[in-house]
Amino acid sequence: MTDIKDLTLDELRNEMSALGEPPYRAVQAFTRLYKRGALCFDQFAEFPKPLREKMAGRFAIGRLELEGVFEARDQTRKYLFRLADGEFIESVLITSSSRQTVCLSTQVGCKFGCVFCASGRRGFVRDLTPSEITGQVLYLRDILEIGLTNVVFMGMGEPLDNLLNLEKAVRILNAPEGLGLAARRMTVSTSGLVPGIERLGAMGLPINLSISLHAPTDAQRNRLMPVNKKYPLVVLLRAGEEYRTKGGRMITFEYVLLAGVNDTAGDAERLARIVRRLRAKVNLIPFSPIPGLEFAPPSEAAQLRFLQALEKGGARATLRQSKGKDIQAACGQLAGRAR
Ligand code: SAH
Ligand code: SF4
Repeated sequence: MTDIKDLTLDELRNEMSALGEPPYRAVQAFTRLYKRGALCFDQFAEFPKPLREKMAGRFAIGRLELEGVFEARDQTRKYLFRLADGEFIESVLITSSSRQTVCLSTQVGCKFGCVFCASGRRGFVRDLTPSEITGQVLYLRDILEIGLTNVVFMGMGEPLDNLLNLEKAVRILNAPEGLGLAARRMTVSTSGLVPGIERLGAMGLPINLSISLHAPTDAQRNRLMPVNKKYPLVVLLRAGEEYRTKGGRMITFEYVLLAGVNDTAGDAERLARIVRRLRAKVNLIPFSPIPGLEFAPPSEAAQLRFLQALEKGGARATLRQSKGKDIQAACGQLAGRAR
């Protein structure tokens, strides 16, 4: 049975008209589902009983099940959810003085195999459906009553490898009749899937794009991120440039600092050139340890040196301490759990 929350408002309008109902019923249903958090069709008060029964015969209203919550010393929280088929995903809540940001998963596992990432090591299991993506937001907002301000698609999985469902989820989150979250408060992070970047741009929403760069040359990037062999830097950076100029949104690069791998003065110089050229900014993220991986973050002094070299090279840069390390909730540490 179709989960009604897998449908965008337009799709639901079509479904309602197939049931011989006027389109405003779709808006009413959206309001019930996303503004009132309805969990069954009996809560659709303005629907006559026969229609409620018809809806219940045609659609399910799914929800995520919370399996566990882990709180880090820095207050970052990780939520482990169980999906209907028994798979697990994780969402991370990052709190600062001005924001409550939720980091969403878009797939169970990931097929892109970046060598420094726990999700990549786990391998790919499946895409998340639109309702499983938005369900993470709904659970935090409605059941745990957390006032979310920002959404980042940076959890487990590669969002642009699950484009259709990502796009639907974004539309449902963004719709004023849905969760009403501004696109400017959403960020999609990608390892560099060029067709996906183009498609995201074509959606015409001012969503922020974050590109996981991690190396300033093809030779280095090929070793760290196999996806670079398919979409090398020249192609990727062109797509990034186009996203910025057409959509008017600034690009952010993510750069995981790996001691002895991508942290030399020469790397900083080459990275600064890229960042300047795209008028972007770069977030430096010291590598978060993953059991079984040999990489290490540079010393704090070396991290600062790298930051200063970037700034000297004219690049806007920040050094971000990835949050939630003690609960395996930091960047790249999400791996769900085996069933
Ligand atoms: N697949 C997407 C989004 C999820 S990963 C992407 O790759 O962009 C979120 C971010 O965490 C990415 O920038 C990723 O490169 C980074 N990351 C992965 N493993 C990491 C690690 N061990 N330490 C720090 N950051 C890591
Ligand atoms: Fe996948 Fe992103 Fe991890 Fe690479 S960094 S393996 S693309 S989740």
